[in-house]
Amino acid sequence: MKIAILPGDGIGTEIVEQAVRVLDVLDLNYESETALVGGAAYEAHGHPLPDRTLQLAKDADAVLFGAVGDWKYDKLERQYRPEQAILGLRKHLGLFANFRPALCYEQLTHASSLKPELVAGLDILIIRELTGDIYFGQPRGRRTAVDGHFPGAEEAFDTMRYSRPEIERIAHVAFQAARKRSKKVTSVDKANVLETFQFWKDVVTEVHAQYPDVELQHMYVDNAAMQLVKAPKAFDVVVTGNMFGDILSDEAAMLTGSIGMLPSASLDKNGKGLYEPSHGSAPDIAGKGVANPLATILSAAMMLRFTLNQPAAADRIDTAVKAVLAAGLRTRDIWSEGTTQVGTREMGDAVVAAVLGQSAGKTITKTT
Ligand code: NAD
Repeated sequence: MKIAILPGDGIGTEIVEQAVRVLDVLDLNYESETALVGGAAYEAHGHPLPDRTLQLAKDADAVLFGAVGDWKYDKLERQYRPEQAILGLRKHLGLFANFRPALCYEQLTHASSLKPELVAGLDILIIRELTGDIYFGQPRGRRTAVDGHFPGAEEAFDTMRYSRPEIERIAHVAFQAARKRSKKVTSVDKANVLETFQFWKDVVTEVHAQYPDVELQHMYVDNAAMQLVKAPKAFDVVVTGNMFGDILSDEAAMLTGSIGMLPSASLDKNGKGLYEPSHGSAPDIAGKGVANPLATILSAAMMLRFTLNQPAAADRIDTAVKAVLAAGLRTRDIWSEGTTQVGTREMGDAVVAAVLGQSAGKTITKTT
């Protein structure tokens, strides 16, 4: 097994370090190599996704990714901005299916901004299409308007597009995932306004004919955003396009207590994947040692389960995270009265201790 480790910028380096420490105590036989990506790679090599980093990612079985970005790069030409690295990796590795499970741990029911009874036991899976939509559609740019409400004015434009095969393959992924869960898929679109999403709805409906055992529901994105905070447990598998998935999965993250708890996997057609927390590089807290590393640690567990075929090791990580939360340890983002606040490294220490404790048959206790 070869893992490419790409910590990136901001809190990326701090949180990936903790995930690697956890992997290291699992007695796995894996090789790893670390490379620069994002703003860090731009500083060192003049490009956010240098050839060497891309090649390493291509050669590896899986990629463990932190986060990229910093507001200080906002003035750079778009192709040099750190965020282009993650878009480039998705494109070059053919990563089209983004899995974002939103799971509310029993111990964090009170950390959610919603009432505990709305989120207790929440376990939904958002599947976001990653390679199409308005994020990649051409043409895009700035120009002088020739029509519209202000002809002659400067305007900017992007192109929303989806091809049939792109929709078909993500629909298959969603229906197959639903078969392993409660057999219910909600496809989120904006078919009432957008041609692209009427097509999305039509193609998802066609693919559904091959999965008669799975229930399919269609929902407009504005309603889905509302239902996610009104009755989130009514969802199970949610499948949607790149932009709606980006937004809805961050909304779902808050149901779980913090975006610092939400792992993700981006898979190609053969199950090779890039694993990363759903959040960004959080420049506001970078270097302060307060970032929550659990989303990244849980992303490493997804990597073991989905790509590296090590389900037992993945279960050990999941169990260790639950044990640490049960022991009352919390980073600042999930802290509440009566729990013990710890920093990034202490949270990593606790998960490592919990994993080691499993082999020794010990239970975890507070480390502070
Ligand atoms: P963000 O996710 O980085 O941060 C949003 C808020 O959540 C901040 O208040 C931050 O402190 C908090 N937060 C995020 N992760 C946390 C963690 N693990 N523990 C505790 N708190 C956490 O989003 P943003 O502020 O909109 O973007 C910052 C930078 O990250 C931008 O440059 C953006 O483009 C980039 N970004 C990168 C990715 C990626 O690498 N895949 C994804 C999203 C945003």
